[in-house]
Amino acid sequence: MITVLRIGHRPFRDKRITTHVALVARAFGASSVYIDQRDDELENTVKRVVSNFGGDFYIKTGIEWKSFMKNFKGTKINLTMYGEPIEKKIDEIRSNDNILVLVGAEKVPIDAYLIADYNISVTNQPHSEVAALAIFLDRYFNGSELQKTYEGKINVVPMSHGKLVKYIPDEEQCLMILKSEGAGDLIIRHVQTVYKVAMRIADFIECDKKLVAAGALLHDIGRTKTNNIDHAVVGAEILRSKNIDDRIVRIVERHTGAGITKEEAERLGLPVKDYIPETIEEKIVAHADNLVSMDKIINLDQLMDKYERKNLHEASIRIKKLHNELSGMCGMDLDDITKDL
Ligand code: SAM
Repeated sequence: MITVLRIGHRPFRDKRITTHVALVARAFGASSVYIDQRDDELENTVKRVVSNFGGDFYIKTGIEWKSFMKNFKGTKINLTMYGEPIEKKIDEIRSNDNILVLVGAEKVPIDAYLIADYNISVTNQPHSEVAALAIFLDRYFNGSELQKTYEGKINVVPMSHGKLVKYIPDEEQCLMILKSEGAGDLIIRHVQTVYKVAMRIADFIECDKKLVAAGALLHDIGRTKTNNIDHAVVGAEILRSKNIDDRIVRIVERHTGAGITKEEAERLGLPVKDYIPETIEEKIVAHADNLVSMDKIINLDQLMDKYERKNLHEASIRIKKLHNELSGMCGMDLDDITKDL
């Protein structure tokens, strides 16, 4: 775990470069940054990036750096052009896994050099704390930080030319998307009830609630075009065209009943592939939808009746299995969890 300590921050002139220290720390694999001077604006900027782009990077400003550094339980590095060359020391440093890296702003007090276990230079030429930190982290992680994934609300898709960003819409954006596709009252009331049920189940199970929320609200967007069995496939296509995060697209595509097997898909004339929900978020939304008829919540017995009346025996067995699986994860039957909604 790597903690970055930034000292000498002057809020009136260093905002931009200290923000860059924090963003480089986050993007190149450090877990947190601590900054000596209190700076709420800087803290909020970095927290916003974390909230949008993901991960659990931590920032705190306004700490007493010297006692923080002295009390740090781990290996303390001061990055300075006066130090020993990084290439000579990095293997030794890498054998420690709890590291504090100090970078300065203007003049770094001599105490930092004395408290540090290592004073390390990235060349012995004067340059920048941002560059020094980036090189240090890259050498420490041996480049593996470049493969790190974040799965935030905003995900940049690598492109040879142009820009492609996929995102997880919040509740308000989901309703706007539905309305822009022409969803009427019936669809809106239905998805809002499914959302209520899905979020209740999500309270009991470890999952990504942002995905559950967006998946529940958008699962029937395809019904703005068709009420046939292919509405899930049509909905997924609509969302793909709007650059919605792939995890939500899959929730929508796999929400029918307890999913559709490849063989059933072929029989039903759908593009031939497996539509069985796999992730926990896919399962929660698919089954929340099962437990809602129009805008009314129903229980497992009523749901089984509905399927048996339509002679959909195989699908009903799969749905019951999903119901029991989710109930088991919640430690309580879903009918009890949803009955007061
Ligand atoms: N002149 C200041 C001093 O003597 O402490 C340093 C100012 S420098 C602009 C700000 C920070 O960049 C330093 O505290 C150090 O962390 C980092 N830095 C700059 N050049 C470096 C180098 N060659 N190697 C390692 N760190 C460097």
